[in-house]
This record gives sequence, C-alpha cells and structure tokens, in this order.
Amino acid sequence: MKRLYETILTEGIVINDNVLKVDSFLNHAINPQLMKEIGEEFAERFSGEPITKVLTLESSGIAPALMTSLVIGCELIFARKRQSLTLVDNLISTTVDSYTKKQKNTISISGDLIKPDDTVLIIDDFLANGQAAKGLIDIAQQAGTSVVGIGIVIEKSFQPGRSELENQGIRVESLARIASLTNKQVQFVEKTRL
Ligand code: 5GP
Repeated sequence: MKRLYETILTEGIVINDNVLKVDSFLNHAINPQLMKEIGEEFAERFSGEPITKVLTLESSGIAPALMTSLVIGCELIFARKRQSLTLVDNLISTTVDSYTKKQKNTISISGDLIKPDDTVLIIDDFLANGQAAKGLIDIAQQAGTSVVGIGIVIEKSFQPGRSELENQGIRVESLARIASLTNKQVQFVEKTRL
C-alpha cells in the first residue's frame, strides 16, 4: 500500500502523541482512488475466505468497507451510532467507548440483515484500543455469525487494540501500522507490501 503510506506522510497531521488526523482523505474528505486500492488490498488479503457480509461502523468505516465489499462482491452493513425511527425492530446493539469523542456510544444493526449462516469481515478506519472492533465482533456474535477477521486501514501499534483482538483469536490485517507519533512525526512499524 505504497499510496497509503505516502498519503499518511504527506497529508496526515499529528495532533498529539496519540492521535493522527486524516481528514483530507479518510475521515472527512475521501480519496476515492485510494479507497479503491484499499478495497482491493483487503479483498486480496482475505481472499479464500467465504465472506458473505462486510460489517463496519458509521461513518468513517463506510468508505473503505464499501470498496472492499464491492471487490468481494457482497453486501456492506454499517452499524449505526444514532437511533433511527426506522430501525426499531429486531435490533442487535452493544456499547462502545469512543476513542476520539471520549464518550460511550450504543451501536446497532438490524438483526434482519445478518443471519447465522453469514460469514463476516469487519473493516474499520483506525485501530487504537480495539473498542470499536470489539463492539462489531460482539454484534456479529450476537447475530450468530462467524468472523473471518478484521481489516484496519491505519493501526496505531503502540496502543493495545491488536494484541487484545489477537488474544481473542481474531485475525487482524492492517494496511498501515504506526509505531509512534512522538515529536509530531509518523513512524511506521514496517514498510512491507510497498
Ligand atoms: P478504538 O475503538 O480501537 O479505541 O478506536 C478506533 C476508533 O476511534 C476508530 O473507529 C476511529 O474512528 C477512532 N480513532 C482512534 N484513533 C484515532 C486517530 O488517531 N485518529 C483518528 N482520526 N481517529 C481515531
């Protein structure tokens, strides 16, 4: 993912030692060509898995998850953070601590959309402490489905999300792994797959 590494280096803004702002291509404006390559990369990494649904969390997970589901050829479902007048029956919900907003969100999907015979790939924009990912796993488990793994666009490897997920036996595939954000610098863990 050469383009992803380059875009993080040229457009990412280090807010502090723990937070990277990527509003110019992922979290506010969206770079469609980059999202297309991200979708192709996730589809390639999880090829061979019998994925029937891609699951993400609104709003920043939707763009990479949509491109992934397009390449895989399956449906995308995004968990909602806000209550909806039309989403009331057969709800599957869980609670997630928001990393950036420092608040608890209840996230929900309709239980009509995922069935026990589905096989789910979870996609999200960032991995920090793993709360969002764990919430999505919880939703998939409540629906009775199996989870083939989690695809993350940007992993902050100095935070505990990956190890907590791997301790649960979950496969984690991150396209960019950041070792440190100290001194306003992005340091990557590795530059494999460039
Ligand atoms: P976690 O649940 O793993 O603690 O945090 C992941 C979620 O928090 C992601 O869905 C993302 O929205 C947000 N997040 C965590 N760290 C960052 C960061 O450094 N930058 C941005 N832009 N979002 C982050």
